[in-house]
Amino acid sequence: MKHEHVTHTVTERTLARLPSGTDVSVTTHRYEGGDGPTAYLQAAQHGIELNGTAALRRLHDSLLGAELAGTVIAVPVVNSLAFDHGSYVTPQAVDAVNPNFNRVWPGDEDGTLQERTVASLWELIAAADVVVDLHSGTADMLEHVRFQGGERESRRLASVFGADYLMTDPEPDRSLEEYTGTLRGAARLAGTTAIVPELSNSRQVDREAARRGADGIRNVLGDLGMLRTEPPDPPSQTVLYDDGGRVGADHSGLFEPAADVAVGDRVAEGDELGTLYCPATYERRQSVTATTSGVLYSLTRESAVTAGEKLAGIAALE
Ligand SMILES: [Zn+2]
Repeated sequence: MKHEHVTHTVTERTLARLPSGTDVSVTTHRYEGGDGPTAYLQAAQHGIELNGTAALRRLHDSLLGAELAGTVIAVPVVNSLAFDHGSYVTPQAVDAVNPNFNRVWPGDEDGTLQERTVASLWELIAAADVVVDLHSGTADMLEHVRFQGGERESRRLASVFGADYLMTDPEPDRSLEEYTGTLRGAARLAGTTAIVPELSNSRQVDREAARRGADGIRNVLGDLGMLRTEPPDPPSQTVLYDDGGRVGADHSGLFEPAADVAVGDRVAEGDELGTLYCPATYERRQSVTATTSGVLYSLTRESAVTAGEKLAGIAALE
């Protein structure tokens, strides 16, 4: 590896075409140094998740003056259609079949608009050694970094990022993981190491979350030897295992979380998490309780809920 002053170039990459004839394109930043690995960074697969994008701007400022071994490619807004609509998913008008960007990886160049978009981005990912896919959770979610289940290098880099919590899923059958279509799953099938930081606070720029995101990526690049800086030792970390512990709404209504419940709490099966009321008749429709024991990592504060929606997430301690 060889550290050299960064050369920065910006290009527009055309991903797909809309019915009007307008192109869907993304702005791609390329930071080239000396010989070394390639890291691909992206944010905003989900259009309301802004803090990964804000983190990449902070990282940009520090990379411009840095000495780098290898290449960093960063796409700050991968899903501009959802971003422009202020929506988690892509507007149905352009892809009613695959609204969730993070369920179609590695894409299909002959598929729906979303699949074509992803297939074009996949060319960048296929050439990378490491992928960092930045997301932002709801206002009330524990900040964490997901790693690819059973993949040691992914777990190591997730730890180096430096968040207090790490999370992984059951190690699925490889074909099953392909079916779920997440970027981290598709990357694993392709033999590429990926981590997924879930920074706090979607829908708003949170300066601290953005700073932690930029610092975390610098830690990863430092650990890989791409930057000269050694990352600090990670804090004491809790590793969570997401086996689908999900508390759903049995009815539609207004959900009030219990006053004494907060994310990060250890909960036992049956513990009270809140109450779902009918807002019109005031009728109590569901006493919402923990369906399993573990750590409460998300709890909805967007309280008008529809039956079947997720109210809380519980992950087991590894
Ligand atoms: Zn997301």
